[in-house]
Parts: sequence; C-alpha cells; structure tokens
Amino acid sequence: MFGEGDPAPWLAFVGEGPGADEDRSGLPFVGAAGELLSKMIKGMGEHALKLGLPALAARLSREQVYIGNIVKCRPPGNRVPESDEIATCGGFITAQLTTLQPLVIVALGRTPTQFLLENNAPLGRLRGQFGDWRGVPVMPTYHPSYLLRTPSAKAQVWEDLKLVILRLAELTSDSAKASSLLERNPS
Ligand code: URA
Repeated sequence: MFGEGDPAPWLAFVGEGPGADEDRSGLPFVGAAGELLSKMIKGMGEHALKLGLPALAARLSREQVYIGNIVKCRPPGNRVPESDEIATCGGFITAQLTTLQPLVIVALGRTPTQFLLENNAPLGRLRGQFGDWRGVPVMPTYHPSYLLRTPSAKAQVWEDLKLVILRLAELTSDSAKASSLLERNPS
C-alpha cells in the first residue's frame, strides 16, 4: 500500500503503516482510524473557512491532501514496525515526500515522527511544535488509532492541527492574515 492524494498537496499526512483494512484495499487510512482522520481533515477545512481562508480550506479535503505511511506492508499481528523494516521502507516515503513537496507535513504518531525528525524523544515531548524535514515544517501529533483509545487526547491534536492551518496560511497567500490570527491565537 503506497499512498494516495493530490500529487502537489499543500498538506501531507504520514502514518505508520497499513492495518488489515488498508492491506486489503490497498489504500491508506480506510479503517476506523481512517474515518477519524477524514473527520480531522474535514474539521481543518471548516476551521480554515471560519478563519476567512477559503483558498486554504479548498486544499484541506481528503482528496486534496496526500496520505502516506512509513512502512508499506502490515507488520505481522499489526505490531509496531521494527527499525530494520522502517529502514527498508524509509527510502520510499522519503522519495514520495521529495516528489510531492508538501508545504507542511503532519506526522501521525511516534513512528513517522521519529523517522522524519530523526529524533527518538517520546512523542509526548515532540508533539505540538514544528520540527523540520529537509526544510518542510513537520507537526508531530497523536495517531488517530491512539485517539480512538484515548479520546481525551483529541483536544491536544486539535490544537496541533490549528497550528498547521496557521502555518499553511503563513506559507501561502494569506501571510498577513495568518500573522494577525497568530497574534490573536498564540499557541
Ligand atoms: N494506521 C496507519 O498508520 N496507517 C494506515 O494507513 C492505517 C492505519
């Protein structure tokens, strides 16, 4: 399972690897976690519209973002991918992101966060602030599967995603507007 979405996205989401549903369908994030990810993306679009950022809102739909994973096959028993598996598959997501050139990346969970940022600090410490992948801002946040088990973390993820919206506004035509929104909504 490779990935799907716009070939020139403003925003890319990177997950860990396919689950059973994704392995069957060949598409990323189609199971329960995928449904939640779709809702998160829809919420981002609606929020951008509320902030008066229609051009950005139009790029924040499931079809207009790109969604990929670090590993391309489901690890046995759905376990977390091991470091040799991540190293083997890592070249693919690196090539994908290099080709796609998204303006911002959201890393969903520990595996993509640690891979993209080359930082083994715990996700709880890394989330909520932008890191850097080859000049592209990366926002680490919790994985939707974690949110299904821990709904109380949804508020933190929403804060992270709002920062992503503001960064995207800054990087696109609405930089003046984004600065004034940032002043009014400091993180
Ligand atoms: N979890 C992931 O990390 N990726 C998927 O595609 C599905 C579930």
